[in-house]
Amino acid sequence: MDLGIRGRKAIVCAASQGLGKGCALALAIEGVDVVINARGEEALQATAAEIRAASGVRVIAVPADVTTAQGRAALLAACPAPDILVNNAGGPPIGDFRDWDESQWQKAVNDNMITPIMLIRAVLDGMIERRFGRIVNITSRSVKAPLPHLGLSNGARAGLTGFVGGLARQVAKHNVTINNLLPGAFATARQTDGLRKLAAKANQDYETYAKTQMAAVPANRFGDPDEFGKACAFLCSADSGYIVGQNLLVDGGSVNSII
Ligand code: NAP
Repeated sequence: MDLGIRGRKAIVCAASQGLGKGCALALAIEGVDVVINARGEEALQATAAEIRAASGVRVIAVPADVTTAQGRAALLAACPAPDILVNNAGGPPIGDFRDWDESQWQKAVNDNMITPIMLIRAVLDGMIERRFGRIVNITSRSVKAPLPHLGLSNGARAGLTGFVGGLARQVAKHNVTINNLLPGAFATARQTDGLRKLAAKANQDYETYAKTQMAAVPANRFGDPDEFGKACAFLCSADSGYIVGQNLLVDGGSVNSII
């Protein structure tokens, strides 16, 4: 299937590994020039080289912290008129509500709500003028089914979801779409780190704990970042203009709901 986005330009935030990398790779394979970002330069340059080799498109690596105004400015300087924006950042820490003071709440809201909103604000008018834009926010299944140990994520991402739900419906008439992808459990560094902590809390070894978690997923496995990336590329495709303001679970069936 040709997604009709060859030659388009994308910014993919937080993309040296994991889900962001999956999205950048899938877009590049569809012929999209990508600007990718992460804080750690070495891993970012290695990922850029890997994506270039796999796709042949132009890949620009912008080492920066996307949760800062300077980091976002660097990304936008490298790609001032993106056709596609994939918002992503590191997720907040797991814990108990007593662990999180005001500054931790402010960080979670900054990183997982205000940061994507500021990037959307910066690129949206250009997309409207050019009558093409695809924005995908990587959020979490916790938006639909709150996870007790991920209260910071439940809260901050719900705020983003509410805001873009309204905005998506204001800009859809210009062929600019905003949708959210809600990952369940994917085999990434973040997920493995989190599981190790939860396994230690439950006094279990990681392998046993991870196996139990996988068995709780109807697909009986963790997701692969590459398949997540392909779902993202589809939402960015030329023919996806009628998919507006949606929250698509990519979770192997974990959230037990039909709507
Ligand atoms: P990951 O494997 O830890 O990768 C995170 C990527 O983001 C890395 O490339 C990291 O590179 C970059 N990054 C982190 N903070 C950044 C910042 N401030 N500025 C720029 N780049 C940054 O994580 P992941 O599993 O792909 O998760 C991605 C997002 O999806 C997170 O918000 C996570 O909470 C959410 N999520 C993941 C899962 C899952 O199962 N994996 C499930 C639900 C939700 P540097 O560290 O070098 O910056």
